[in-house]
Amino acid sequence: MLEELAREEKVVSSVPTGLFIDGAWRPAETGATFAVEDPSTGRVLAHVADASPADGMQALEAAAKAQTSWAAVPPRERSDILRRAYDLLLERQEDLALLMTLEMGKPLSEARGEVVYAAEFFRWFSEEAVRIDGGFATAPNGQGRLLVMKEPVGPCILITPWNFPLAMGTRKIGPAVAAGCTMVVKPAEQTPLSLLALAGILQEAGLPDGVLNVVTTADPAPMMEPMIRDGRARKLSFTGSTAVGRKLLEQCADQVMRTSMELGGNAPFLVFEDADLDVAVEGAMQAKMRNIGEACTAANRFYVHSSVADEFARRLGERMAALPIGRGVEDGVVVGPLIDGDARAKVASLVDDAVRRGAGVVVGGAPLDGEGYFYPPTVLTNVPEDAVMRHEEIFGPVAPVATFETEEEAIAAANDTEFGLATYVFTRDLDRAFRVCERLETGMIGLNQGIVSNPAAPFGGVKHSGLGREGGRVGIEEFLETKYIAIATP
Ligand code: NAD
Repeated sequence: MLEELAREEKVVSSVPTGLFIDGAWRPAETGATFAVEDPSTGRVLAHVADASPADGMQALEAAAKAQTSWAAVPPRERSDILRRAYDLLLERQEDLALLMTLEMGKPLSEARGEVVYAAEFFRWFSEEAVRIDGGFATAPNGQGRLLVMKEPVGPCILITPWNFPLAMGTRKIGPAVAAGCTMVVKPAEQTPLSLLALAGILQEAGLPDGVLNVVTTADPAPMMEPMIRDGRARKLSFTGSTAVGRKLLEQCADQVMRTSMELGGNAPFLVFEDADLDVAVEGAMQAKMRNIGEACTAANRFYVHSSVADEFARRLGERMAALPIGRGVEDGVVVGPLIDGDARAKVASLVDDAVRRGAGVVVGGAPLDGEGYFYPPTVLTNVPEDAVMRHEEIFGPVAPVATFETEEEAIAAANDTEFGLATYVFTRDLDRAFRVCERLETGMIGLNQGIVSNPAAPFGGVKHSGLGREGGRVGIEEFLETKYIAIATP
């Protein structure tokens, strides 16, 4: 026990807690710091620099200053830096996973998985860095030639959320580095340590000063708005809530900035009467319980054909009830705490609301007493359409099940939301699979599987779930500008 605590302290104290600007670590200009907590105990893990708006502008200045020289670095060198960082992430997987579990709460097994997932973005984009190309054509009338070039979009502002503290960083930093962009990254105030550790790794991997700058703050709005409105940053990539995304889009409009917005979801999970129920329950466990339900792709509404709904809810309830709950650092734990007291209070109030409106509780249903922000895996049945959780992200381990009779009804229910990020479909009928997939208003579909995230695939949503895609072949395009040269021919 004492040994484990000593290891936790060692891992946390190895992380630099200052601002990373122009290749150097330094405190905030005011000397202010803010506390980072372990959500499983409420204990303070570390104090990190609390940047002021002036600190933010210095980070932007450093990124702007480095842009021209960074854009001139050969693609192979940019690629090699990412590849070295990939190797270092894997080498340090254990320490990084422990750090992430301590500040975010997810079980160690999932944190280890996230380190690999995060590293894979660096590997993918190290491969993409050397494949940036353009085009050449003869003008249709034969008069002249058309040359199309790709260039880095310029200095970027990258804002990341707390739920995947490392992977949401590498998913943005990887393509920005590969494309030749400089950047200012602002991690979420709940989980800055993983990203600070990542900055150290990128420096070690040889990233030149000023290419990556990291500013941490407890109060993002006053620091970020002047940076966005300044005009030197040419791109904003944001992952977070739709409410904040909307505000940022307004701010970006001023300077007509490029934007990528990965926002909220309200993922439907459809189980048809011909589905393999074993596969559907397994998929539900992944789509619901990955990251303790704190994922934008988490299944938020289960629609199950009435002929199999009871069986599905019973089996899902049994699996969910058997999951060990506890501190993510403990062996065998699958369900860690939620990120903070507000998150837990929100989950509890959504469940209370659904029950008040007539939902039945199969398992769970009330917050757990004691230290930390724990909420148990919960399955609800007959959740009515007017329950608030049908329309809002639950962001917790709660599976609300409702039934449908026809394919038409299932598609209408799935599309009845302003969001459109991920959708899950379970059926063994290939014709139905394509029919349904084509009519779903969504950016991603898990067909007979509960996970859609993959560095090699375009991640993103439609409607209020966002703009643009991250990962896959299109991921780097978000960080590239197109320039065309009209060439006169004799
Ligand atoms: P949030 O929007 O409150 O915060 C996200 C980030 O934005 C944090 O770094 C935060 O400090 C920063 N931020 C907050 N207000 C800001 C402001 N006024 N100006 C500039 N920056 C500001 O979201 P959250 O509650 O921390 O994260 C959960 C949300 O993120 C969920 O809605 C979830 O669906 C979404 N999410 C989406 C994806 C995706 O890829 N689509 C992935 C993960 C999370």
